[in-house]
Amino acid sequence: MSTVSFADLKLAPEILRALTESGYTTPTPIQEQAIPLVLEGHDLMAGAQTGTGKTAAFALPMLQKLLPQASSSTSPARHPVRALILVPTRELAIQVEESIKAYAKHTKLRSLVVFGGVDIKTQKPHLKNGVEILVATPGRLLDHIEQKTVLLNTVQMLVLDEADRMLDMGFMPDLKRILALLPRQRQSLMFSATFSNEIKKLSEDFMNYPTLIEVARSNASAENIAQKVYMVEHDDKHALLTQLLRGDDAKQVIVFTKTKLTASRLAKQLQREGVAADAIHGDKTQLERMQALNAFKQGSVTVLIATDVAARGLDIDSLPMVINYEIPHAAEDYVHRIGRTGRAGASGTAISLVSPDEERYLQDIEKLINKPIKREVLPALAKPQRAPRAEPHHREFHKPKPQKPSHDAWFDKPYVPNIAHAIPASEPEKTESKPKAQIPALFRRPG
Ligand code: AMP
Repeated sequence: MSTVSFADLKLAPEILRALTESGYTTPTPIQEQAIPLVLEGHDLMAGAQTGTGKTAAFALPMLQKLLPQASSSTSPARHPVRALILVPTRELAIQVEESIKAYAKHTKLRSLVVFGGVDIKTQKPHLKNGVEILVATPGRLLDHIEQKTVLLNTVQMLVLDEADRMLDMGFMPDLKRILALLPRQRQSLMFSATFSNEIKKLSEDFMNYPTLIEVARSNASAENIAQKVYMVEHDDKHALLTQLLRGDDAKQVIVFTKTKLTASRLAKQLQREGVAADAIHGDKTQLERMQALNAFKQGSVTVLIATDVAARGLDIDSLPMVINYEIPHAAEDYVHRIGRTGRAGASGTAISLVSPDEERYLQDIEKLINKPIKREVLPALAKPQRAPRAEPHHREFHKPKPQKPSHDAWFDKPYVPNIAHAIPASEPEKTESKPKAQIPALFRRPG
């Protein structure tokens, strides 16, 4: 635990007051590193993912720097956009702006969030009133730029949050167009869970000798997250999931699936079984996603089934458990997923259900996090149970099942962690090409 306090970081009294009210006592490592650097005016390239406290790491010094320009005037001219925060998804946009509002509540600084999928007309009057801090998804920001409802020539600070995900989602052309409209004289901060060559190139193009900071990638395998794996055949996953959801620590669980279809089917099937489950994914409307998320936060939904894209940046405090119904094919997504639990020091459990055809992805994950994940003994499962069939299955699964517990041979295989090529923590991670994240229709820009 850090011995540095927020007051030691020389934050203004009105910001400190808001932090106390938010229940923050000590800065997280990324905050301790980033806040002084941002206050000193450095450009920053920060390696940190959701759950590390990265939002406050940029938002707090940003507010502090903008404080002298805060105005109580109602004139829009006194509230030009001074800070622009670009994020990949609407959920993250909402969450970031909520945090900024909370930290800025005792200041005169105004913030606003704009994202696609909702009527642009509703956002215009708010922009017209003037806001110092604008949080936006790239596509919708460009729409506003085209419709001349926002001017960016007064931006002093730019934040690219979850930059790697923005590139994954194909936002590079949009980003370039937006960056070209910003004043050259500005401070730029970039937050990214990973540093691919593309990210490095982006930082060279738009930043000025950035200082590189990184919080231990160990967040990937954070001590406070108990990571477990069940080796299970695909057709037994549903029975195992149901069993896990009956456990005492499964009061609020996010279950990850690879596809939207599996998410939907699983939610429906669990609902039929009496579980308060709902799904969020890119095919759901913004309203549906927000309703599901709110129901989950309030506890009327206890199991939220999500795809990677939909789950990005979801801010749910102290989520005790995540379950990977299907493990991601890009190892970094695993790190993002388990980052939903064990936040800001709380403990959490991340359980992965791994079928034989997923074993190689599990090996990639163990390589990335540089440690083996504990295999749990599979409990006796209620049968017969049918898993929702969402995708064409691996050939192996069409084989007739043996009479007796079918998986013995495979399960009882001694586990040898395949981390011979583990990446040392200090070495930059490899940048192998990974499948492009699926871009939900709602995120796609027309044309
Ligand atoms: P983030 O990584 O920005 O998504 O933050 C993850 C979670 O940690 C959010 O729920 C924040 O409200 C919370 N958080 C951020 N900084 C602190 C802190 N210094 N102390 C306690 N909680 C924090």
